[in-house]
Amino acid sequence: MPSPVEPTSTQTPVAEAVHRVWGFSTLRPLQSEAIAAAVEGRDALVVLPTGGGKSLCYQAPPLVDGDLTVVVSPLISLMKDQTDGLALNDYPAVALHSACTDAELATAREMLSEGRARLMLVSPERLLGAGFMDWLGRIAQPSGRVGVRRFAIDEAHCISHWGHDFRPEYRRLATLRERFPEASIQAFTATATERVRADIVAQLGLRDAEVLVGTFDRPNLVYRVVPRVDRDAQVAEIVARRAGEATIVYCISRADTEALAEDLRDRGVNARAYHAGLSPDQRRQTQEEFTRERLDVVVATVAFGMGIDRSNVRCVVHAALPKSIEAYQQETGRAGRDGLEAECVLLYSGADAERWRRLFERSAEEAGVPPDANAAQFALLDEMQRFAAGMVCRHKALSEHFGQAYPFPNCNACDVCLDEMDVVEGSTVLAQKLLSCVARLHQHSGCGFGAAHVIGVVRGSRAERVISRGHDQVSTFGLLRDVPQATLTSYVHQLLDAGVLERDGEYRTLALNAASYEVMRGEREVSLKRARAPVAESGEREEIVLSAEEHRVFEALRSLRREIADERGVPPYVVFSDATLRELAAIRPSTPEAMSGVRGVGAAKLASFGERFLACIAASCEELGLESDANVVAPARAPKRAKMTPGKRKTFERFRRGDRIVEVVRETGLALSTVSGHLADWIEAESPDDVSAWVDGATYERVASAAREVGMEFLRPIRDRLGDETPYEEIRVVVAHLRSKGEG
Ligand code: ADP
Ligand code: ZN
Repeated sequence: MPSPVEPTSTQTPVAEAVHRVWGFSTLRPLQSEAIAAAVEGRDALVVLPTGGGKSLCYQAPPLVDGDLTVVVSPLISLMKDQTDGLALNDYPAVALHSACTDAELATAREMLSEGRARLMLVSPERLLGAGFMDWLGRIAQPSGRVGVRRFAIDEAHCISHWGHDFRPEYRRLATLRERFPEASIQAFTATATERVRADIVAQLGLRDAEVLVGTFDRPNLVYRVVPRVDRDAQVAEIVARRAGEATIVYCISRADTEALAEDLRDRGVNARAYHAGLSPDQRRQTQEEFTRERLDVVVATVAFGMGIDRSNVRCVVHAALPKSIEAYQQETGRAGRDGLEAECVLLYSGADAERWRRLFERSAEEAGVPPDANAAQFALLDEMQRFAAGMVCRHKALSEHFGQAYPFPNCNACDVCLDEMDVVEGSTVLAQKLLSCVARLHQHSGCGFGAAHVIGVVRGSRAERVISRGHDQVSTFGLLRDVPQATLTSYVHQLLDAGVLERDGEYRTLALNAASYEVMRGEREVSLKRARAPVAESGEREEIVLSAEEHRVFEALRSLRREIADERGVPPYVVFSDATLRELAAIRPSTPEAMSGVRGVGAAKLASFGERFLACIAASCEELGLESDANVVAPARAPKRAKMTPGKRKTFERFRRGDRIVEVVRETGLALSTVSGHLADWIEAESPDDVSAWVDGATYERVASAAREVGMEFLRPIRDRLGDETPYEEIRVVVAHLRSKGEG
């Protein structure tokens, strides 16, 4: 849907090709720069987060200049999905790797020898194999040139030791530069660290590389860090909240994944465990069922993800702390790749950090390396723990971790900004009781004890280990009898995170420090936190929110998509993304022309299955009594059919006070376009007499008369009519006001 702020442009050959083939009317940030570099034969390093749209950067250039691009990718399992998806767009692409069938190889060779293929995906092994490069040097291209002139290296961080996925065969890609000195090389990665970037440029021998680094923030992800109290129950609750949608749950160990998946199955959820200990067949089957939308919940170790491309993963749960912020970003990055809202929940317990430390130590020991080899891992883990225990906006903390400033005071999309944490009443007194118990036990027995033991004592446990030591005689015995064990465990870890309690000695027993005594003397306050159930409608995205009926249309479209995907043996998301289906459900086009206006509907897909989707939409409209071609008259308003959200309620209050747009942007941290949309909504809803706080009288009159001349369905013609730079925000205000008075 054309957005009023970024007018549709189909003038340039790139924009034209992207619109025709993919049905996208705008390019994402840095895509046009990356495409331009490729078309002009310049080297580039493109760093965009997962879901940022890297593939288009190497898929579009061959359509513009007819030169074949050779894409090196380590992810064989994704190559087939990619070529299948491209085929649906009538885009000739081939893949060459070890998992190809003979028939596939034959077709690929034929397309290449006839100079038809625009894109060749190849694994590094194949590329570096005997004779392959010689053959590439002689290949005839669609443009008529001979030999390859352009390489794209996907997942380029695999070339670096400092990346999280080093692959030795990637090192040998350095020979590309020597073998094809004429060719340009564009490298792509989602890994942002400075060191990895420098390594990629050096290893590949990039020349004057244009380095394009995108914004690392993923505004469509809602991040939550919740104290872990009861893992299985908490995960089950989240999965239930997301029923019918894809969720990935990450655990530290294989055993954890098995146990948690089983617990979920006991609760009636179709969940499957996934880890490196399963047979390749089992893993392939799970991956496949997940991608084909026959399985929605996978409980996995980090082994799951690299080969997974389900763009509509709506939720990623970390049942335990990830070992670094990089890993966290990578794993949460698998949510919401279609750009729609998705949720990432981290169930945090400080105990996990201890567990990782022991795992690091053990693996160092087994590998026979000195203990200080773990220093880097420990440092990364500390950062992760600080992130989880901290109370800084998660979007801000992540952006800053990746070296980017986050400009908004409130993201409206994390537990901190949505204010979802309750401070437990009487926190300081609770802390004093726990700390006193640590003190008393130490006085009584002359040594420290672990968290489990201390908690047993304050809860008045009659366990043998408590009684035999006489710990039922200390004054703090049974002092917190009514507090559940898991809650106390969470409190102890929060006290450790807050630095008012420590671990000590070989057995990492609990120990007091100066800060502990300050708390016990009442000189220092402590805030213990407890998660409140998240508000269902959190986050504030410019996203189409469907009504209940529209959601049924969406579901009907989804099953049609699955049917078509099955017929063609491709994953559903390559037919159409969820974003496209949602827009179809909201607009409900009745003609091919109307359908082609929907984002993600390119010419080839419209021709292949437009009719079936249109029939499905017509049938659903009939059945549900919905009008078709809805919301197309005013695309400027369509994305804001969002229901009343907490964020919106707040902006409405501000507008009632007469706050200006910039002030609201500054105070709420919402995007300018969001706030200006809210303002228009508010004006239409409440029809204020006076809108002079947002647009001066003279401008109002000019815009109003232009609007009356050219109509009010679209903002762009009004602006063109005005023939100047009147901001869209102001035009929007006037149009909303005229509408609220019954015009338009
Ligand atoms: P990455 O490889 O960077 O993780 P992808 O290339 O898989 O990201 O793109 C993520 C999603 O964004 C895909 O569903 C893709 O179709 C979509 N996309 C890419 N570019 C655009 C665009 N210009 N407009 C709309 N959607 C886009
Ligand atoms: Zn935030």
